Amino acid sequence: MSTSTTLDGARTGSTPVVLGGTRAALWLFGTVLLGVALYYFIGIDQGATSVFGNDTHVHEFVHDARHFLGFPCH
Ligand SMILES: [Zn+2]
Repeated sequence: MSTSTTLDGARTGSTPVVLGGTRAALWLFGTVLLGVALYYFIGIDQGATSVFGNDTHVHEFVHDARHFLGFPCH
């Protein structure tokens, strides 16, 4: 199979997403809200002061993400 066949297939398979201004603003707001909520969830569980009491599962699950985002850890 040649490369041009793959590129032609990719070109015909794509569908542009057309949204109105209001729907685009709502999608942007929802995406930012979800991102901020995820950022808060990653940063809230410190391990020593855990959200769910004396349980560090959330902290350990997002541990690498905490380091990547610069939260203080250990
Ligand atoms: Zn750490």
